[in-house]
Formats: sequence, C-alpha cells, structure tokens
Amino acid sequence: MRYQGFYTTGQSGHNFACEVAFNTDTISITYTDSHSQLQTVNWNPTLLHPHYKSENQTHQFSYGNFPYQTLRITDSGLPLALKQLYPALPLMSNKQFSFYAWNKPFIIGLLLTVSTLFLLIWFVLLPWVAHFALDHFPKKYEVQIGEEMYKGSVQGKQLNSEAGKQATLFLKALIDSSEYPVQVDVVHSKEVNAFALPGGHIIVYDGILHSMNSYEELAALLGHEYAHVKLRHSTRNILRQASITILLYSLMGDVSGLGAYVLQNAASLNNLQYSRELEKEADVEGYQLMQQKQVDASGMLHLFETLKKSAAPQVPPFLSTHPTTDERITFAKEKLSEQKNTNGNETLKYYFDQMKKQLLTN
Ligand SMILES: [Zn+2]
Repeated sequence: MRYQGFYTTGQSGHNFACEVAFNTDTISITYTDSHSQLQTVNWNPTLLHPHYKSENQTHQFSYGNFPYQTLRITDSGLPLALKQLYPALPLMSNKQFSFYAWNKPFIIGLLLTVSTLFLLIWFVLLPWVAHFALDHFPKKYEVQIGEEMYKGSVQGKQLNSEAGKQATLFLKALIDSSEYPVQVDVVHSKEVNAFALPGGHIIVYDGILHSMNSYEELAALLGHEYAHVKLRHSTRNILRQASITILLYSLMGDVSGLGAYVLQNAASLNNLQYSRELEKEADVEGYQLMQQKQVDASGMLHLFETLKKSAAPQVPPFLSTHPTTDERITFAKEKLSEQKNTNGNETLKYYFDQMKKQLLTN
C-alpha cells in the first residue's frame, strides 16, 4: 500500500513530502532531503508508537526516541487498511483509531438503529410488558396495593362512615357482584371529587354528594369509578409506570422480587390520572351498568354538568384529564337519546335517600 504524506526527522521541524509504502514487516518512507538527496527511512511497524491522531482525515504517527520522527498522511481509508495489514498491533485497537475506521454511513446507520430500537422498546415492548404483567398480576395483589393506598388516602381525613355504608350498599346494588371487595368511603370535604383505587376502594368527597339531587347522578358517578376498578385502570397505570423495572426484574429472572417492588412503590407509581381512552372506557362501562339497572342516563348528563360548573377555577383530578367535560356531556346526550331501559330503580333510590340523610345528620 502506497500513500503520499509528510515526514519529519525529529531533528528539524521541516516537513518533507514523502511516499510511504506499508508492508507487513516494514514501513518505508522515501523523501528528498534539503540537499536534494533521495532518502529512504525504514520503520519497524511493531515499534510504531501507540499514539495516533486524526483530524480532518489526517493521521499522524510517531516513531523512535525523543525527539520523535513523525509521519502524516491524509486519507480516509487508511485506518481500515492498516488494521487489515497489522491486525495484531495495539495501535490498531486504539479507540480513536477504531472510531475513525467507521465511516459516516455506518455511524448514521448505527444512530438510526439505536433510535429505532429505543422507540420500539418504548412504544412496543414496554406497553406489551405492562399488558402481559396486567394479565398475570394476581387480583389479591391489587387488593393489597389498594389497601395500602387507601390508608394513605383517608389518613387525617374526616370520614362519614354511615354515609359511606349507604353508598357502598348503593354500589353493590348497582353492580350485583364483583371480583373485588368494593367499599365506598365518604370524605368530608368541600372539594367536588371522587376517585377509585386498585382492588375496590372508591373515595368520594361529600362536596360532590351535596350537589346531587337524584340517585341517577350517584349511579353515574359510582358506575364510572367502579368501571375504573373493574377494568383495572389504576393497576394498568401502575404497571405501565413500572414496566422498565418489571422488564429488568424479568431479565434477571427475579420474578419474586417483582411483586414486592410493585407493592412498595404503588403509591408513587399511581398518579390517579387516566388517559382519554381509559376515561371514555369508564364512561361507556358506567353507562352500561346504569342501563342494566334501569337507571335513566339523565343522571350522567346532570353529573357532568355539575362537574363542569364546579370545575373553575380549581380543577379537581376527576375532571382534569381528557376527555373534556364538554365531550362527556355530548356523550351523555347521545346516550340519553338512545337509551332503552329507564323504568327506574327503587332499591338504588332507597340507598341514595338513606345516604343523603346521613350527609345531613353527620
Ligand atoms: Zn375517571
């Protein structure tokens, strides 16, 4: 392999234009010295200093004792050629060397591959992991997680336990049966808010109950919140948040540590905010529950209208996520026009009235 380059003897700073022949056992450098004499210097490739510099495709080698002889060659293909010629030389395994041995398309290709991989992991693998984990996540763990979060949620809060009992009976009459031990708690607070925890706990602030005039509204509220429980929305959120950790645990083969991790971190992993799709899903499921129990969908419309009125200026979590309340009002109007079973439900009305009494007396 022959290359054109520049050579310095080390004795003077003079750069001599030279021709370099790289052979397996010698590097021959031929140049014309300052006395117009043709000179040839032979380097032993194995004694080449493992020092290597490359800027703008210019590669610099040094050789011998100080002051070093140097050789500069500008050629983008040189590193790869040298690596093939002297595969055993430590110089050739120099990081800088191998970096410059990569050509531009290779680096771009590598970056594209890495970013594609990242997107695949983020948008395909992790959701799949979360989904898989949800399918295999035991309900008893959900209940346990819910219990822990429940303690935190009601700590220091004033509970209206009698109203809670009636609301729980109301919910049980609305849903018939459940795979989860459902319980509604009524918290004394002016806030218009309600939320569901994994495993069956539903917390309702009495601010929202005071604004209700009909059992149909409570059916809409509890139906929606119970749908979050039944469809495991919180658990889904928690597992989605934890999916990176779940993946790591699974890769390490430590599946037993996984349950403990999720249990310990559930509260911090759950942000009680659901996506637009999940809220919509809960509204649809809630409406179906109402239909099964002959409850008029006007309750849903009234509930959403109440929520809209109380939304400003402080937006409670129940409202702050998508879909917007306006969209939900449109949805309720749609359902109102197409509903069939609306004979009313005396049992639900009874528990609602009982609950209202408890709100007034406690
Ligand atoms: Zn919701």
